[in-house]
Amino acid sequence: MLRSREEYVARLLKMRPNLYIGGEKVGRDDHRIQPGINTLGVTFELAKDPAYRDVMTVASSITGEEINRFAHLPQNPHDLLQKQKMIRIYARRVGGCIQRCMGHDALTALSICTKEMDEEYGTEYHGRFLKYLKWYHENDIDATCSQTDCKGDRLKRPSEQENPDAYVHIVEKRQDGIVVSGTKMCITQAAYADELLVLPTRALMEDDSDYAVAFAIPADWEGIRMITRPVWLREKDELGACPFAKYGVSDSVIVFDRVFVPMERVFMCGEWKYGRRMALLFADSHRHSYSGCKPGVSDILCGATALAADANNISKVSHVREKLSLYAGASELAYAAGVASAIYGERTSSGTFFPNEIYANVGRRMTGEMIYHEYNILTEVAGGISVTLPFGEDFDGEETRADLEKFIVRNSKISAEESLKIWKFVEAVGASAMTSWYLIAGVHGGGSPVMETIALNLGFDYGQRRDVARYLAGIKDDLDDSKLLNMNPAFGDRLK
Ligand SMILES: Cc1cc2nc3c(=O)[nH]c(=O)nc-3n(C[C@H](O)[C@H](O)[C@H](O)COP(=O)(O)OP(=O)(O)OC[C@H]3O[C@@H](n4cnc5c(N)ncnc54)[C@H](O)[C@@H]3O)c2cc1C
Repeated sequence: MLRSREEYVARLLKMRPNLYIGGEKVGRDDHRIQPGINTLGVTFELAKDPAYRDVMTVASSITGEEINRFAHLPQNPHDLLQKQKMIRIYARRVGGCIQRCMGHDALTALSICTKEMDEEYGTEYHGRFLKYLKWYHENDIDATCSQTDCKGDRLKRPSEQENPDAYVHIVEKRQDGIVVSGTKMCITQAAYADELLVLPTRALMEDDSDYAVAFAIPADWEGIRMITRPVWLREKDELGACPFAKYGVSDSVIVFDRVFVPMERVFMCGEWKYGRRMALLFADSHRHSYSGCKPGVSDILCGATALAADANNISKVSHVREKLSLYAGASELAYAAGVASAIYGERTSSGTFFPNEIYANVGRRMTGEMIYHEYNILTEVAGGISVTLPFGEDFDGEETRADLEKFIVRNSKISAEESLKIWKFVEAVGASAMTSWYLIAGVHGGGSPVMETIALNLGFDYGQRRDVARYLAGIKDDLDDSKLLNMNPAFGDRLK
């Protein structure tokens, strides 16, 4: 099933008010989360548009019906390539993060990890999860990934914390379900999602088994409170009717206050050995999603920089041309890492096709390292106007309009009206609250940079490289090429 944007919003408006913003309890009709709802709304709109069929939509592997690709479990490299393309298209349309990929990546992690736990422990999580997913597909549900716990003291494990609620954990096991308490943080789009997919955030030890818990729960369920921080461009829409001004994001601290989770929605309950596996499955899938999202963000920054150069009449200057080419490198290398990750991915025992972790992590790491530099290029090319531009009202003011119309034109081929639009856009992209959000998200989203190092050190074969050096140094007689020879992309029947 494919819901319309209106159906998505109508469902939200029926939800129990459990959001707190700026000290007040509010409903999902609060204007401060509207920019985020607008962003999510696009994922319902384009899925209904025949021009985007097979990219934004796909046949469900569960029901066979057409569903939103964000709800789909990838079945082959083609699915991962289409997901990557889809996320880049959305990023370019909404000015950045489309927010719905986190739910997709959480579903991917749950599909794989529930199967693996069943294989080891004889549990029944996978069948339970597939039943839940069928309902999810039939109703075109949108969910968060609620993974990051508030964590308290970073050097203490969950069970060692003074505050037991620093991590979400099981406080009671009943015949018909479990009761959980704790706090998650930074959870994007939780304020306007249908469901929360809750996963562990880190590796766990035996003492932490109460913290090994995964489940799905409606976002307005009894016992859930969200303290939400919306980010959008500005109170007053100075960009007028331009598309960029409509979109924004919200992140929430989610408090689970003795929340009852019915058994049919519990997908991990005490299997502490799988804490790390579940956490990494989400993170690695999400790092592959970044290979679509981050090139989209680079496209926006590159475009803003090119327009700023045009407005300053410096587009042909050699240092500007060189700087613009850095965006080409950043976006396409990240995209290429995603493509490689898709075609060298692997089918897991659950049937879900999973991206290659090494390519997903190196791509994500590069984009995290580049992000401040990319914003810096925009600043260098734009000059100081993005933080010193007079307010929009002054461009309309009777006494100031003529002065400012002359002030704003730097390239005689560009009108005052268009020049103002360019500089307002550059301000919004490079010097607004959204800018900070994208900078920090670029570094920490999907895990702090050290997590990519950890993932690479787990999966990258340094032994192979040592052997190359041993051979070339004359320590070893021959070089074994079998790993490279046998490294074949998952083409053929597995591509589609
Ligand atoms: C814009 C944005 C959106 C996000 N959206 C979501 C979302 O939708 N869902 C979700 O689940 N999460 C989300 N996150 C959370 C994101 O995954 C985390 O920010 C990230 O994992 C880092 O965790 P942290 O913020 O707690 O920082 P920390 O983990 O506290 O990291 C801070 C520093 O401490 C270091 N550190 C932490 N622990 C240790 C340790 N034990 N030993 C040594 N060093 C340590 C880290 O390496 C890092 O340098 C979002 C984050 C951002 C910024």
